[in-house]
Amino acid sequence: MEKIKKVLDDVFDELVDINQFIYENPELGNEEYKACEAHVKLLRKHGFSVEEKYLGIETAFKATYASKKPGPTIAVMGEYDALPDIGHGCGHNMIGTIADGVGIVLSKLVDDMGGRILVLGTPAEETNGAKVDMADQGIFDDIDIALMAHPSSKTNLEIQSLAMEAIQFEFTGRTAHAAACPEQGINALDAVISTFNSINALREHITSTTRIHGIITEGGVAANIVPEKAVAQFYVRATTKSYLKEVVEKVKNCARGAALATGAEIEITNYEKSYDNFVMNKTLTGVVKKHFDLNGFDVESHAVSMGSLDAGNVSHVCPTAHPMFSISKDDLAGHTRALADATVKPYALDAMKKVILSLAATGIDIINDPSLLESIKAEHVNTVK
Ligand SMILES: [Zn+2]
Ligand SMILES: [Zn+2]
Repeated sequence: MEKIKKVLDDVFDELVDINQFIYENPELGNEEYKACEAHVKLLRKHGFSVEEKYLGIETAFKATYASKKPGPTIAVMGEYDALPDIGHGCGHNMIGTIADGVGIVLSKLVDDMGGRILVLGTPAEETNGAKVDMADQGIFDDIDIALMAHPSSKTNLEIQSLAMEAIQFEFTGRTAHAAACPEQGINALDAVISTFNSINALREHITSTTRIHGIITEGGVAANIVPEKAVAQFYVRATTKSYLKEVVEKVKNCARGAALATGAEIEITNYEKSYDNFVMNKTLTGVVKKHFDLNGFDVESHAVSMGSLDAGNVSHVCPTAHPMFSISKDDLAGHTRALADATVKPYALDAMKKVILSLAATGIDIINDPSLLESIKAEHVNTVK
């Protein structure tokens, strides 16, 4: 641990700077040019070879440091997208910075121990998570462990994140004067309203942990014209992929029924990528917990609900740790300006240092103990079927 601390102390000021820079320059998903450039520059400076625009995604990157000795491949995942209006209200400026920190620290130790360290820049977690494409395209096939950490109000190592599908219903009807000749019109907005009502009836017959929430993005242009086009977008979320599939079909039937009832045409699409539920690896989480405890974190014993995460897709193809860590003594709600502001205060920076130490130490344990990696992988195979 002393050696890790020494290596981290040498680079910590650079990490504080990049965290501050990204906080001050928030960019929306898939537009994180400044953040991506800053991460790539820092990682190159510390000897990583970097593939930019990874998998054809403008603001994604893959940074590699390979020792000359054989050993496991450990990937640390960074995020750096912000939210509209509230900037880094989810604290992703810290997530990317932690990924750099863990990657750089491990890179300076693996020449002796063996193994390969990757830092993956994964854009647009809040909307069109790049990790979905990365998992689909098999980039985790030769990665043994994926690590990351997310700032929060409390420290929780057990997270629940729901499988999620983003569905859009676009109804097309026929315009007509709403008072002079309404009988000639087909009301697309009625189809949307009917969809919402049917979904509200459906809620009584789905499990209580399932979530269906939507908005109307188009609902007509003037009250004296029968709406020709109306669009609604929904997120449907459930604890497992298989149950999600069942509920999504029922939700689509609500919309199909509304189309039939009104005579409107319907087009169903996915307006964002679908996220998988997060699969916890207890063995890996146990190693992370040991180091969180050693670094003085007050780890909550219950699991915390996270909505949905694109790290869920990674957890189905590779053992993944996604701890949440406290960045303030005060209670903070996610997606707020208060959380964004907390990410650059001394309490958060101290927590950031302890998280980097904890995740780097987790990586070292895994590199040094092949039987530990075996057990983590065995659990993964058994839980992901
Ligand atoms: Zn968020
Ligand atoms: Zn987040």
